[in-house]
Amino acid sequence: MKKICTLAIAILSFCLSAAAQGPERLRVDATDAPRNILHATLTIPVAPGPLTLVYPKWLPGNHRPTGPIQNFTGLHFKAAGKELDWQRDLEDMWAFHLQVPAGVNELEASYDTITYNGKSSLASSKVLDLVWNQVVLYPQGAATNDVRVSASVRLPEGWKFGTALTPAQQSGNAVEFQTVSLTTLVDSPLIAGAIYRQVQITPPGETLTHVIDMVGESEEAIEITDKDIASLKQLVAQTGKLFGARHYTKYHFLLILGDETAHHGLEHHESSDNGAAEDMWDNPGSHDLEADLLPHEFVHSWNGKYKRPAGLATRDYQAPMHGDLLWVYEGLTDYLGNILAARTGLRSPDEFHENLAYTAAMLDHRTGRTWRPLQDTATSVQSLFAAPVEWTNWRRTADYYPEGYLIWLEVDSLIRQKTNGQKSLNDFCRAFYGGQSGPPMVVPYKFEDVVSALNQVAPNDWARLLRERLDSKSPHAPTGGITNGGWKLVYSAQKNTTMEAREKSSNNIDLSFSLGFIATKEGELRDVIPGSPAYAAGIGPGMKIIAVNGRKWSKDVVRGALRLAMRSQQPISLLAENGEYYKTYDVNYHEGERYPHLERVEGQPDILDEVIKPE
Ligand SMILES: [Zn+2]
Repeated sequence: MKKICTLAIAILSFCLSAAAQGPERLRVDATDAPRNILHATLTIPVAPGPLTLVYPKWLPGNHRPTGPIQNFTGLHFKAAGKELDWQRDLEDMWAFHLQVPAGVNELEASYDTITYNGKSSLASSKVLDLVWNQVVLYPQGAATNDVRVSASVRLPEGWKFGTALTPAQQSGNAVEFQTVSLTTLVDSPLIAGAIYRQVQITPPGETLTHVIDMVGESEEAIEITDKDIASLKQLVAQTGKLFGARHYTKYHFLLILGDETAHHGLEHHESSDNGAAEDMWDNPGSHDLEADLLPHEFVHSWNGKYKRPAGLATRDYQAPMHGDLLWVYEGLTDYLGNILAARTGLRSPDEFHENLAYTAAMLDHRTGRTWRPLQDTATSVQSLFAAPVEWTNWRRTADYYPEGYLIWLEVDSLIRQKTNGQKSLNDFCRAFYGGQSGPPMVVPYKFEDVVSALNQVAPNDWARLLRERLDSKSPHAPTGGITNGGWKLVYSAQKNTTMEAREKSSNNIDLSFSLGFIATKEGELRDVIPGSPAYAAGIGPGMKIIAVNGRKWSKDVVRGALRLAMRSQQPISLLAENGEYYKTYDVNYHEGERYPHLERVEGQPDILDEVIKPE
């Protein structure tokens, strides 16, 4: 009894001292953003004695231990005007040990974060993507919900910003934000730039504010068309119908339009942090490729941020995450992002079909599926992204995105078939992700919860079906959603428009469905599909094709050779460079160029086009 009382007093006094402590004060000097270095000082309330501070390691939405500790530099600690020594933990590279002297209750840390990472830089001469987890430390063991932070930032002269954070005061290029939890701060990135525009996209009848904040490398980059503004308003309206509730108080689509910084999307409760091609709004190919980016990241506010797999709902940024349910978190989001792109007019029905055909064909040629079930691509998210592009077909990559798309399409088509079109996955979304509207919160779930919610919409052995899809080592992709939908996957010499857009944007040529390789325009082999004609001839990723049938390699030359081989018995001759050696490889292939498309099966109901009709 006495022991319990002592413990209760200890807990009470710990709580009181934690509550009595003020917030961390973080000041970020981003005036050096154009050369990709951020300077920061952090004032932390402390007590005398040993102290361990940590730098965020496992990042929400990223699911991996990739907090960029290698870019965390210039570190100094000061207390009562004196420099303090620090030591990095011998095992945990994200942890720093210090000894706080007697009489000290506040510590000042100063440091720099380098945001230059080759292709994935977060800043350029004109734009900045400020992600707070890169400029913050917090006490080891503290829950991020309990750490309070008052953050401020000084931007380069004349730059404007967008964020879901609420400014407390602003003068010139310095902004101070209202105090929030560390969770909310890290969940609320800020984009800034010399060229900025905010557009209201709240549809009529919607009470919560929705805006898109854009910064661009050029004035033209942020010239969004009226048609796209109308589509984004429709996106807000459609998600209201799809989910029936919103788990945020306002929403900011943050969008950097430029090719100097990373092209990516990262979801948050009340915003999404997106980077896209500078010509996204006015180049039809870029527009098609990026069309599902904003819908995808927006869907995550419900699927991922509000409802979150239990293994990803961690109490701080140091605890390991489990990726086993990413085929729901990302796979269903991929599906919903793609159908919302079509429901809102961001993508035309034809573009939707071509995109789906490419996704299905790519996965149907993924030979790694014979050894690595889809489940393992989700489970091994921690290591997959570190892999190079070479040998992707055999290794597999984050296939839980596109194959999740196919699986959820199949689930949607089955619900529609079993209920004679009375129910659909829309009903599952309302039941599973709806509930009561309100400010951000996290509700963890498990596999069984997904199965049970599906069964309430349409009874079926969903657990068995999902496990079969997830654990399968079939060489073929799960294309039941396409066939149930009244369509079939076919191949022809006519180019697939999604692949054409990808070729223009990446400068790669994708001959996966004919010769069996992907190469750069210079002939460097990015990947070769095991079992394909090119693979059978002996070439592999990492080699470089110098000539095709004796003529210098180019995309046109290899396409010409493919057409010629259709009328010839001769193999296609590839001269390849492999390190310091050259060798000729004869590829026996005579079926010409092949690209995937969807073809309607006459007489069957067109469920696929039902799926992309606006609600
Ligand atoms: Zn995602």
